[in-house]
Amino acid sequence: MKPQPSANPSILMEKLVSLCKRRGFIYQSSEIYGGWNGFWDYGPLGAELKRNLRDAWWKQVVHWREDVVGLDASIIMHPAIWKASGHVDTFNDPMHSCPACKKLTRADQILNIAQEQKWYSSLSQTLTKNGLDVPKLQKWLQREAQSQLPNLLAISGPEFSVEFAAKTIVTLAQQITPFDLLRLLACPPGENPNSVTPCPHCGAPLPPARPFNLMLRTHTGPIADDSNLTYLRPETAQAIFAQFKNVYDSSRVKVPFGIAQIGKAFRNEITPRNFTFRSREFEQMELEFFIRPDEATELLTGKLTHYSPELDLTEPQPDWAWDVWHHYWVRQRILFFQTLGLHEGQHLELYWQKPDELAHYAKATVDILFRFPFGTEELEGIAARGDFDLSQHQLHSGKSLEIFEEELKIKAASLPESDRQKFKDKVIQNWGNSGKSAEQAAAFCDKLFTGCYIPHVIEPSLGLDRLALAVLSAAYAEDTVPDAKGNPETRTVLRLHPSIAPIKCAVLPLLKNKPELVAEARRVFLLLRQHLVVEYDEAGAIGRRYRRQDEIGTPFCVTIDFDTIGENGREKKGTVTVRNRDTLKQERIPINQLVPYLLERIAIAPNQNS
Ligand code: ATP
Repeated sequence: MKPQPSANPSILMEKLVSLCKRRGFIYQSSEIYGGWNGFWDYGPLGAELKRNLRDAWWKQVVHWREDVVGLDASIIMHPAIWKASGHVDTFNDPMHSCPACKKLTRADQILNIAQEQKWYSSLSQTLTKNGLDVPKLQKWLQREAQSQLPNLLAISGPEFSVEFAAKTIVTLAQQITPFDLLRLLACPPGENPNSVTPCPHCGAPLPPARPFNLMLRTHTGPIADDSNLTYLRPETAQAIFAQFKNVYDSSRVKVPFGIAQIGKAFRNEITPRNFTFRSREFEQMELEFFIRPDEATELLTGKLTHYSPELDLTEPQPDWAWDVWHHYWVRQRILFFQTLGLHEGQHLELYWQKPDELAHYAKATVDILFRFPFGTEELEGIAARGDFDLSQHQLHSGKSLEIFEEELKIKAASLPESDRQKFKDKVIQNWGNSGKSAEQAAAFCDKLFTGCYIPHVIEPSLGLDRLALAVLSAAYAEDTVPDAKGNPETRTVLRLHPSIAPIKCAVLPLLKNKPELVAEARRVFLLLRQHLVVEYDEAGAIGRRYRRQDEIGTPFCVTIDFDTIGENGREKKGTVTVRNRDTLKQERIPINQLVPYLLERIAIAPNQNS
């Protein structure tokens, strides 16, 4: 197979979107009514793909571990949960509302949105190494800007002067971007261009951004007033915190342990974009992994190990500090992606948020970024959130969310009073360095000596829809393969990992008008169907059927031919050819060995996760 040069990113995205619709992976929601922005439906193959991804996550995060249990909570919960979590007051995105074209734009995405507009690349051509090409810009203002940015001051306001813009650019020492130039073209002479934000859709100056709460609201009960205002959950995590005590009391878990949940989440995104990447309804796969506060770990084990690159992260250890647990989960998540064929370096990058980017409660956050065709963007976030969430719910609900550990109490009681005091002094000093009062630190230690504390948490949070888009875009390929006559032919292939491919195996009789072949193929199909998702296909030439299966990512095709039914002698009777999607190799396999042959090649081995 000859790989072909990879297509330009926007063409690749167009091809992927078109394949998804044509083959039944993803459709626009409510398409027959013109669609509904920010919502998507998964067709027959998309539904299978999502189910496989969900199963892979659940298996690796819950079933293959002894320290994680599952939860399936309701989407609508008591609104007080969202007040306690901070979502009612602070789950906002800054939004610009254009007074001229009425379009809404998320302030922190304005540059990305500008880059996606047609005018952006033509405007960039007016910028040369030596500054602005004034005649080119004048032409651009008369043509592109007139039609695409009709409210730009440079074409709508008589006071604008291109010469002024050119002069300003010369006085700007650094290289400017097309968006900086647009600011100039939207800025009245004499004003500071940096204070002007032009609308990327029409060029009008935008008023300052306002906070916009992303939660979707509804009402429960027959009367739609403020007393029964509720929210569609914007994340699955809060239900885990709200049910933490119930899960802890009703299952045999002990800290450190995790609670995992998969489910729908809703955000009233201002600008849903990039296919399913940013939607208003999506699915999340979240884990809250509860750990001891470092002080409890140190009290119990007599030491505290912090992260260093040489540390072995394979097996959790009782003396791990929070930062080691955080790194451990980053590694676990990378291993998970590897089992699906997504690799660090090739597809994924880690981005450690800088201190000024962290949420006020987060001790550290890593974004796992994926190289999507439209840019490198967040696929999963892994945050060390301290005890913020449980403390907030304890405060707002008035219910204790502390846990009790007998060993901790025994350990504290075994220490001489002087050692306990030394321990307390150290905690007071450490907490003081991070702005907490001595009273708070002393009260925390007194609780700890009785065996009680609020657990801290590490939160890996992954979007299922983003994962589906990531595996589809990583799998999409075009290559050249020989057709039935040996001539080169271009094929589109989805090189999905076999474990997540919607159809694992297609069963194909060589000819459909030969009853013996069809009967044997149906028999093989019914046999395989008990173990795998299989498809039976007898329509069209065999080459065309292979191409169709390649395009939907089916890793194996089983062909029933004249050898299978013994027409060419006894030797190959009862055997079939198994064609591999990626290598194109065909192997002759006895029908009675087909099930183990396929299962072995499709499964993710549990030990790949360690
Ligand atoms: P972004 O910065 O992209 O808006 P976020 O940091 O707000 O994402 P989180 O709140 O950390 O995202 O949500 C965890 C995960 O949920 C994200 O990493 C992503 O995979 C997924 N997710 C969040 N918002 C959306 C959305 N609007 N559409 C699809 N998936 C989403």
